[in-house]
Amino acid sequence: MIYISPDSVAERFMRYVQIDTQSDPNSTAHPTTEKQKDLSKLLKRELLAIGITNAVTDEYGYVYATIPGNSDKKNIPAICFCSHVDTAPDCSGYNVKPIYHRYYDGNDIVLPDDNTQVLRMSASPYLEEHLNSGVITASGLTLLGADDKSGVAVIMEAALFFMQNPSVKHGDVKILFTPDEEVGQGTAKVDMKKLGAQFGYTLDGGEAGSLEDETFSADAATITVNGVITHPGYAKNKMVNALKIAGAILDALPKNEWSPETTEKKQGFVHPVGMNGIAEKATLQFIVRDFEDEGLELHHNRLKKIAEDVVAKYPGTSVEYSFVEQYRNMKKVLDKFPQVAAYAEEAIQRAGLVVKKESIRGGTDGSRFSYMGMPCPNIFTGMQNIHSKLEWIGTKDMAKAAETVVHLCMIWEERS
Ligand SMILES: [Zn+2]
Repeated sequence: MIYISPDSVAERFMRYVQIDTQSDPNSTAHPTTEKQKDLSKLLKRELLAIGITNAVTDEYGYVYATIPGNSDKKNIPAICFCSHVDTAPDCSGYNVKPIYHRYYDGNDIVLPDDNTQVLRMSASPYLEEHLNSGVITASGLTLLGADDKSGVAVIMEAALFFMQNPSVKHGDVKILFTPDEEVGQGTAKVDMKKLGAQFGYTLDGGEAGSLEDETFSADAATITVNGVITHPGYAKNKMVNALKIAGAILDALPKNEWSPETTEKKQGFVHPVGMNGIAEKATLQFIVRDFEDEGLELHHNRLKKIAEDVVAKYPGTSVEYSFVEQYRNMKKVLDKFPQVAAYAEEAIQRAGLVVKKESIRGGTDGSRFSYMGMPCPNIFTGMQNIHSKLEWIGTKDMAKAAETVVHLCMIWEERS
């Protein structure tokens, strides 16, 4: 019987969320904000304090630590547990004041610092699962930061459990905390050799029991339109304004399909995210998403054709299309190592939960790790309404996630 106390994880979590670690999409530095290191340094100190003597941080804000294996078996793969220290730029993470609703009674929770912010069971039905147990919210002016400080707290709690229960057998357990996940830079400066893990799990998911082993494949595309420029006073029948052509390209996109606002589940999309330019030259930025790499290719071809058809109507102008890879669906990699997700399912069940297998309409650090040699699905922590002032988390979900981590290490040891 493995038991981790919700109150203990809650206390830890509430300490971590009070540290502002918002990342910055406009920074090219690593980490994108220095303040993320405040939490990284604290985590290192706490790991050292519980006896994990090899815990280190680096100049980029990563934390690495290993709990050495204690099993007689020598062939157990090293398993990494990873979460990110930063919070999303979408919502303030400054001066977060977490509130612990120790026995949630089902009534509306009015957040005290802005009473227009009300958490209601009707809008957040998952709250019903947490009646009479602990729920943590922010105070109304900020996000909570459960994404992903719940993952940090879960991993730290599991680490403490291993240090206090040496009779529980496991192989090498690798702990990794990353900066800048929310701005797509979570794996940019990671040292996979230093990490030295064969398989990994991110703790960065929602409802209790959920396991995500599939993400989007993602590219960024750029359309550049070259217009024809003259003095505006003498432009008749000569000038062709690139900004207007760019507008026409946006207008030519389908209205009822092929966009984030019209798709769900396994459907892909293209999504304009930026427009820049002057009369002479304009660029449109898109993100392109699909679960299949072949689907991405179809999206690129279709988008390019739409742009070319529009530009063809304007003599003397031209268009260029380019794209870069952002990340790829982890499923392709994970299918080669079916035990990684299978053991996670078993661990979730041993923790007394029902497995909910899901695919993410987005990416995780694990998408990139999976292609960097460390297959890495995503495990729940319980986080809800992320990136918003109504973000909340149930404390029993965090405790169950920590128990899942412990079971998972035990399963890897048993099966090796
Ligand atoms: Zn996250």
